[in-house]
Amino acid sequence: MQDKYYGEFGGCYVPEILMQPLAEVDQAFQEIKHDADFQAELSDLLENYAGRATPITLARNLSRIIGRKIYLKREDLLHGGAHKTNNTIGQGLLAKRMGKKRIIAETGAGQHGVATAMIGALLGIPVEVYMGRVDAERQAQNVKRMQLFGAKVHAVDSGSATLKDAINAALRDWVTNAGDTYYLFGTAAGPYPFPALVRYFQEVIGREAREQMLRLTGALPAAVFACVGGGSNAIGIFSAFLDDSQVKLYGAEAAGQGLHTDYHAATLEKGAAGVFHGMHSMFLQNQDGQITETHSVSAGLDYPGVGPEHAHLHATKRAEYLGVTDHEALNTYRLMAEREGILPAIESCHALALALREAENFDAEANLLVNLSGRGDKDLKNYFTHVNS
Ligand SMILES: *Cc1c(COP(=O)(O)O)cnc(C)c1O
Repeated sequence: MQDKYYGEFGGCYVPEILMQPLAEVDQAFQEIKHDADFQAELSDLLENYAGRATPITLARNLSRIIGRKIYLKREDLLHGGAHKTNNTIGQGLLAKRMGKKRIIAETGAGQHGVATAMIGALLGIPVEVYMGRVDAERQAQNVKRMQLFGAKVHAVDSGSATLKDAINAALRDWVTNAGDTYYLFGTAAGPYPFPALVRYFQEVIGREAREQMLRLTGALPAAVFACVGGGSNAIGIFSAFLDDSQVKLYGAEAAGQGLHTDYHAATLEKGAAGVFHGMHSMFLQNQDGQITETHSVSAGLDYPGVGPEHAHLHATKRAEYLGVTDHEALNTYRLMAEREGILPAIESCHALALALREAENFDAEANLLVNLSGRGDKDLKNYFTHVNS
């Protein structure tokens, strides 16, 4: 296996029985990097199925209000409505190349389950999705979408019946069925090679954005902002700027009702190092090391851990991670609707809200780049429930 660690974080802490299946995924991953046929099919699907390249939009009215130019990388315009499609197309093709007959996935809010079911339908591979029962009830629309794409959805009753329990259930399935089954992991976290593999398929966001910013503005942005759940859209856009030390990188974590309450998901600000879901990383945990529940208005950021590369970028201070409250995110949702005619996902509103908050620390000529990870039609009901309560 290639280097499995980011500083002290990362690794592959799984039951021995999963070492072989993970090594097979890694071997296929190393091969496809130089496989012209694979790369051609990947490019074709990204362009002609998913609609890449996504544009960059100057948020002209917001920029006027805050006196700094804010540019949006429009992953909300990708087929499926979020960056998740980049990953499921890539790993779906990998599963096909490995000759797997079945794809399993975990999902929290249901977005990754939908993106996986979509690709299963396209590639003709049966998909089964594990979802906590609580999440399945909260996100009934996404369960219907998955079923319409032909996927089987398993409601998980163990633990808190949410995302972390769904991941445990998917890992258990994989232990039993690794021979014919591909586990399509949803974010840049978990055991090696998933953090590296998911990053690889999300790097396209950063590659495009860097080139587009140079073309549009003649310079690199002063800062790049992205929201962090497990960390895949953030590492995707950060990856292209890591070596440009003059470009500041900001990760927006969900601070829920505020960092002083128990109701948040700000793993890097409030968590501690530990091992869970196959990786050494940062987690929200109690004094016994038990993983705790997270609470945020945005289900997509409700994961009690963060991918190992972000733990490393945090430890080395290359990127800064700050909490954004539900209230700030909901205000930004409304502001974007009223001023720009865009409804971003509430997840993405965390990144935007952080950019608005930090803007005054930059010169008036500075260009700020925000990754708009997804679209927010799915959040309408959520928005009106919160503002009316
Ligand atoms: C799933 C999701 C996220 C969080 O996942 P990451 O792996 O941290 O990117 C953020 N934004 C949207 C729109 C999502 O659907």
